Amino acid sequence: MIYMGIVKSESADLFNIRISDFFEMAKTGRAGKLSPGRIAEAILFLRKQTSRRAVAQKRGLVVPPLLIASLTRRCNLNCAGCYSRALRPSLPGETSQELSDDRFMALFEEAVELGVSSIFLAGGEPLLRRELVERAAKLKGIFLPLFTNGTLIDDAIVDLAARASIVPILSIEGEERQTDGRRGPGIHAGALRWMKEMKSRKIIFGASLTITSQNADIALDAGFLEALAELGISVLFMVEYVPVSQGTENLILSDEQRDRLNQPEQFSRLSFPVVVLPGDEQAYGGCLAAGRGFLHLSPEGRVEACPFAPFSDMSAADHSFEETLSSPMLAAIRERHSELTETKGGCALWNKGGWIASLSVCSGARAKS
Ligand code: SF4
Repeated sequence: MIYMGIVKSESADLFNIRISDFFEMAKTGRAGKLSPGRIAEAILFLRKQTSRRAVAQKRGLVVPPLLIASLTRRCNLNCAGCYSRALRPSLPGETSQELSDDRFMALFEEAVELGVSSIFLAGGEPLLRRELVERAAKLKGIFLPLFTNGTLIDDAIVDLAARASIVPILSIEGEERQTDGRRGPGIHAGALRWMKEMKSRKIIFGASLTITSQNADIALDAGFLEALAELGISVLFMVEYVPVSQGTENLILSDEQRDRLNQPEQFSRLSFPVVVLPGDEQAYGGCLAAGRGFLHLSPEGRVEACPFAPFSDMSAADHSFEETLSSPMLAAIRERHSELTETKGGCALWNKGGWIASLSVCSGARAKS
């Protein structure tokens, strides 16, 4: 059974194992249409990255398998309950405060050298930094999911996905009514249009859904998941809703819905792997943030434990990526990861916002009291 949640294992290679599962599925043609050569290359890369992280660990450096990079706060949509806008509201002259394309690329290359296996390109809307996305696509071997609202995709981006390791992940909220209800009229049809185009060209792509109390029943419906398979997706990300916007607590999953979301067997017959975030954190010994599984890089370069915890004590604007990995705040969070298991509201770290804020020197947003 392949379920891209996390298995009971202490090793930080959890993500590495799951990503290789994805390529193993690709071999059977069950998850996308990759050439055997591309699959072999990808699995070799993952193994190389595993040993690079093991070497780093020997000298006391915790290198995360996964780096989530928000390329910008800016977005051309204004979705209800948007995390990015709630946690990282617009800044005066914000474009100027974002890291340059050269600085991002230098950090990405350093991250790969240290052993990072995958870089999630996120935002805001990452395609508002199209040149940077095109440059990142030239990075060899690495898996680059591009989390996009789909409105800025065009033939050139589809061509890029066809030849490089960019994997477009289109954000939807369920069926048309749910997606357009949160994101705006026509967004769902736009996403489906590009899914059909990429399917017809046998390109690897995926979808991502934010799972709330209002769309959980649709998102976990077998018929809906089969419809996504028909659309040709190669991977599905399900992100449990975190009430970062005050007054949206009604969107938190009920315990019954969360239990249903974290039952891997329901996805076992699907033709694509499902990644549930944060999934059942207890299953892997507590929170995976702060480098245990992943780290977040903000548009301005702040290295943060998690996209849902916008607190930081070091910036990659004036430190190397390696230096930021030794941040005292990240080390303090890792030391207490076994306490970070309360996931009601989708994020244990968010639930401890007050404690995290006390550790950080350059926090960006209000802490959950
Ligand atoms: S597309 Fe994403 S970043 Fe943009 S407003 Fe919607 S949720 Fe926020």
